[in-house]
Amino acid sequence: MARKLSGRVVVATHNPGKLRELRELLSPYGVEAVSAGELNLPEPEETGTTFAENARIKARAAAQAAQLPAFADDSGLTVEVLGGAPGIHSARLAGPDKDFARTMRVIEEKLAAAGAMKPEQRRAAFVSALALAWPDGHEEQFEGRVDGTLVWPPRGTQGFGYDPMFLPDGHARTFGEMSAEEKHGLPPRGKGLSHRARAFLALAAACLQ
Ligand code: IMP
Repeated sequence: MARKLSGRVVVATHNPGKLRELRELLSPYGVEAVSAGELNLPEPEETGTTFAENARIKARAAAQAAQLPAFADDSGLTVEVLGGAPGIHSARLAGPDKDFARTMRVIEEKLAAAGAMKPEQRRAAFVSALALAWPDGHEEQFEGRVDGTLVWPPRGTQGFGYDPMFLPDGHARTFGEMSAEEKHGLPPRGKGLSHRARAFLALAAACLQ
């Protein structure tokens, strides 16, 4: 049986956008989110080799520093023909200016160099790993993924990051062409399509009440 989460939780992020999204997700369950940024907690080095390990490192560090249960996520894009790249380096590949128009072009050049021009050669997935850690060392871990195909040129101006290149399976529009509600809205209003929505639904089923 997974341990239930209640009361206050530290969200191990210094990113205000992520904090806002997680606050909205957690508040219906009576869980109050404070951020590692607000508590001035140090950011640990992400030395893991998988999304799950990096999420765990961040959750563990925040739980120990704040002596509260902590929640962390790590996510990215994995491209089959590139051996899973950019994977855990998805954010880093965009550089400090976070120029995703350039970064998507870099991915397209790598696909072209690999001769991957047909849709079936351009398979990719977004992955989201979520970790919960308690100060006594207890941990819970969840993962969600959404599979799809990379298109070129990018389509749409919504979302962020690699969204305009990513066409989720069973859909005719990229994540860049979908509203936020369509991309990561949760049931009953949304379908829980995105990797983060799927991981969060698994976490909610196990650890929230
Ligand atoms: P994180 O903040 O370390 O989890 O970095 C995640 C990175 O993966 C982001 O900077 C984006 O580049 C990419 N990424 C993760 N989720 C999404 C998504 O839903 N859409 C587009 N890009 C994403």
